[in-house]
Amino acid sequence: MASDICALTEGTLALLVSFPHAGTYIPASMARRMTPEALQRADTDWHLPQLYGFVREMGASTLVPQCSRYVIDLNRPPEDSSLYPGQDTTGLVPVDTFRKQPIYLPGEEPTAAEIAERRELYWKPYHDALEAELARLHAAHGAVVLWDAHSIASVLPRFFEGRLPDLNLGTADGRSCATAVQAAAEAVLRAQRDYTHVTNGRFKGGYITRHYGRPQEGIHALQLEMCHATYMDEAAPFAYRADLAARVQPVLARLLEAVVEAAA
Ligand SMILES: [Zn+2]
Repeated sequence: MASDICALTEGTLALLVSFPHAGTYIPASMARRMTPEALQRADTDWHLPQLYGFVREMGASTLVPQCSRYVIDLNRPPEDSSLYPGQDTTGLVPVDTFRKQPIYLPGEEPTAAEIAERRELYWKPYHDALEAELARLHAAHGAVVLWDAHSIASVLPRFFEGRLPDLNLGTADGRSCATAVQAAAEAVLRAQRDYTHVTNGRFKGGYITRHYGRPQEGIHALQLEMCHATYMDEAAPFAYRADLAARVQPVLARLLEAVVEAAA
């Protein structure tokens, strides 16, 4: 299924890879109301479908949205409660960037009615597709892994001190997948020496990981937040670096193979 809102590719493996922040499209009517800083789209999870391109050959399903997270954040709860109470975080329809620059020109911030409209138009179709594909794979295999793929600038004082570890695994503190599935991913992370890593550090998994992960029913959700620097230039124009990507892709492949095997 492909739509203007998101593109689902159906695979044969018990694995769905979701890329909720990979979109860059901002409708012209919204873009006209945004600041030049916002229109750089610096907070995009850049190039992730390209980085994870190998998963199609593995037989995984993929779900890729068209719209930027500045239109609506697909990894936030629909009612916009905070994912990290007490800590700074951006909301369902963010009004500032990770560097605290305003997204909208003065007086142009979206109203509650507009936020509700964006939720119906962009958020709901993504989640409807995600839920349906998880159900299809679960019915076919008896168990399924949902891998929520993310990436972020490695230095963002608003959210964390210093430099973020390269690979940040999130499982909602162990609640979104079986212990054996998390352990399988951690074994892969420990076995490599090229990338620093942490489990359930600053990033524990967002709405998608927490909402869909039901390990007792055989639905195992994990989030991987990676530093942009592991596969791209962190400065505009945010170029993909095939040389860097080629080093991290085998680690991603081993992670995915390990979690699918552990979930089976
Ligand atoms: Zn993200």
